[in-house]
Amino acid sequence: MGYFLNVVLPIPLERLFTYKISEQEANFIQAGMRVAVPFGKSKIYTALAYNVHQEAPEAYEAKEIYQILDETPLVNAFQLKHWEWIAQYYMCTLGEVMRSALPSAFLLESETLVLPNKARVVNDLDLKDDEFLVYEALQHQSALKVGEISGIVDKKNVLPLINRMVQKGIVLQKEELYEQYKPKMVRYVKLAEEFQQESKLEALLEELTRAPKQSQVVLSLFQIQTRTKKPIPIADLEKESGCSRAVIKSLIDKSVLEEYHIRTDRVQHEEGSKSVDDITLNDHQQEALQAIAKGFSEDRTVLLHGVTSSGKTEVYIKFIAECLEQGKQVLYLLPEIALTSQLISRLRSFFGTKVSVYHSKYSIHERVEVWNNVMGNAEKAQIVIGARSSLFLPFSNLGLVVVDEEHESSFKQFDPAPRYHTRDAAIVLASLHKAYCLLGSATPSVESMDNAKKGKYGYASIPYRYGEVLLPDISLVDIKEATRKKRMKGHFSETLINAITEALDEGEQVILFQNRRGYAPVVECTTCGHVAQCPNCDVSLTYHQHRDQLRCHYCGYHMALQQSCLACGSFTLDKKGFGTEQIQEELQQLFPEATTQRMDLDTTRGKYAYEKIITAFENQEMDILVGTQMVTKGLDFRNVSLVGIMNADSLLNFPDYRAHERSFQLLTQVAGRAGRTSKRGKVLIQTYNPYHQILQQVTTNNYEKMFAEQVYEREQFKYPPLVRIIKLTLKDRDFNKLNEASEWFATSLRNVLGQQILGPEYPPVSRIRREYLKNILIKIPRNQSLPQTKNSIKRIEKSFNAISKYKSVRLVYNVDHI
Ligand code: ADP
Ligand code: ZN
Ligand code: ZN
Repeated sequence: MGYFLNVVLPIPLERLFTYKISEQEANFIQAGMRVAVPFGKSKIYTALAYNVHQEAPEAYEAKEIYQILDETPLVNAFQLKHWEWIAQYYMCTLGEVMRSALPSAFLLESETLVLPNKARVVNDLDLKDDEFLVYEALQHQSALKVGEISGIVDKKNVLPLINRMVQKGIVLQKEELYEQYKPKMVRYVKLAEEFQQESKLEALLEELTRAPKQSQVVLSLFQIQTRTKKPIPIADLEKESGCSRAVIKSLIDKSVLEEYHIRTDRVQHEEGSKSVDDITLNDHQQEALQAIAKGFSEDRTVLLHGVTSSGKTEVYIKFIAECLEQGKQVLYLLPEIALTSQLISRLRSFFGTKVSVYHSKYSIHERVEVWNNVMGNAEKAQIVIGARSSLFLPFSNLGLVVVDEEHESSFKQFDPAPRYHTRDAAIVLASLHKAYCLLGSATPSVESMDNAKKGKYGYASIPYRYGEVLLPDISLVDIKEATRKKRMKGHFSETLINAITEALDEGEQVILFQNRRGYAPVVECTTCGHVAQCPNCDVSLTYHQHRDQLRCHYCGYHMALQQSCLACGSFTLDKKGFGTEQIQEELQQLFPEATTQRMDLDTTRGKYAYEKIITAFENQEMDILVGTQMVTKGLDFRNVSLVGIMNADSLLNFPDYRAHERSFQLLTQVAGRAGRTSKRGKVLIQTYNPYHQILQQVTTNNYEKMFAEQVYEREQFKYPPLVRIIKLTLKDRDFNKLNEASEWFATSLRNVLGQQILGPEYPPVSRIRREYLKNILIKIPRNQSLPQTKNSIKRIEKSFNAISKYKSVRLVYNVDHI
């Protein structure tokens, strides 16, 4: 009997796929190793070995694998179990989890290469023009990629052309795997062997007297050598000698110097200087520490509810230190990479080189290095700080997972699958490792607090700020009244202007929050009412003054702003609503002396863009920071005394059952940026609706009341945490087909699951990138089995897929949709 290998392919296949292997391979292969396998007509994929067995597949003839790519598993048993949980819980395939879990450098890509067919004599005259171009190019190059051929014949779709040439036997096709990850090499120099002798060296220097720069380089090399025995990077020599690379290169060419490479880590580390023992927790922190320890001893996840600036991080640090002492690994999850820079330096000051960082703005190479360090349980990756993808690192010895700002909705992956919640997946990961799991927030999510109240999670709280600092003084500014009395300057109330003036006079800094980026959400013609729409999506375009463009925030479509209305041609275009860009402009008119900066998606695109703005603000290089959500996160600025919220209403009116909870969290968090030192901070919230219960709860810092009211409302209307929600989105380019298909699906769901089905309904933006969308909401009571419900849904999906006219309709499941 033969041997077979089941593998996970990095594509959305419901099942594992089976390949044939030899007995030796069967003995060698372990789960978690990568293998290159053929799939379909001519594809090569990197697959992951799952299990070896002796049963041939029934439905198809198993092909042989091409190659085993690893000597030891790249993915460990903990990870595989974790992936399986994610796939099962979030209703996606293991392949989809694999694709998002592994850095792309590990998923070798197959790229079609085209080679000349040397065995064939070709008569030029038999070739068509485009064929000739390719043929000729291949006389000079041994192989061309499909993309390169596109360039040569200046055509997008060259596959038919290549096919034709393959058929005629003029060229051959080759699927080639290539490794993308190249370790970074640092270039070093040393004196060539023969000049190591003193006599030879003297002769050399003699000879170089006519080339003063070159002799300077040689002398500098000596000077560096007297200071250090370490290899000398070319960059150092360049600096020391003050000579250019060209001079150094000419010495290398002359064989006076020798160049060599050493593989280095891209991720650079600094030393730790502070000791965890020097942190003295205050009484509140101490109490919280004990409550957490108690929860841990009962094997429970613990929720740490500590107001902004209460010193949660110091408490985490105590637990991290304890975990390291036991030789275990720590994972510290953050919702936004924007937060990492402050945290990295804070943790590094205690733990030095043991701290690694992992997130998507890091290059592939940097990520591979962290991966390898974690896999090797290396010293420098004992603590990993990261955004959600760090959940997938190959931990083997995890002792503690911290989920900071656990309430943040960006912890939920939206697109593509797996649509997992980082917090929940982290809790599962911790339990697989029997590790502790600590969730922290100043404004816990309603579901986590609910779990704490029900005793599922342990609970600890720090109700006061550290160091006797008072929570900020929050007041509401009624801009309806101010507008009526014509007391507004642009979007600024008198109260806000006075407060900013005062802060600036005192040399203090100000943060202003506005929900929207861009300049104005819509440009409307006051004559005919026309509003420019995105041609691909069902939304109006946002005006961006900086580029004088209208842009779509969903698909990136953009066009230049027209001077006159596209519909009626009149010049009465009016900009309605306002974004961060407009606030910044108004600030420049109101406070010409002050320096202002913007922090939003538009200003933070580059890898270090966030860090630059945050550092500049920390260093007080600017007075006022205007921003979107980004400024609300757990940043710690010392000199901010005033936070202004330009308009709270757009948050509260968002059409979502979580809008109120979110508004409370966001406003409380942004308020928490004010007055983190001795002077009490001030927060002004501008609103048309100062009596709104959420705004009252924010100003009185009444989390408990917010929580109780939200739970009550969700009981009334059946929303989480009282039920679980699976959102099913159907997508198609054909409007009528989509409507019909979603009716079919919803009716089938109702037949099986009863009345817990809402919809189908159009979402607020019902067309994106030319596809129409419709949602069906499945509410699952807490006492109903989740796995069984999912099975029922999957069965309906199967029948659905069997209907040929619905073939083009795409289905997207979002479990615990938030
Ligand atoms: P949170 O994370 O709860 O918002 P932080 O951990 O940022 O609060 O603490 C706020 C500030 O108080 C920080 O500057 C921190 O260094 C300081 N702090 C908190 N606890 C202590 C402590 N026990 N000893 C010294 N400084 C502390
Ligand atoms: Zn669009
Ligand atoms: Zn018009």
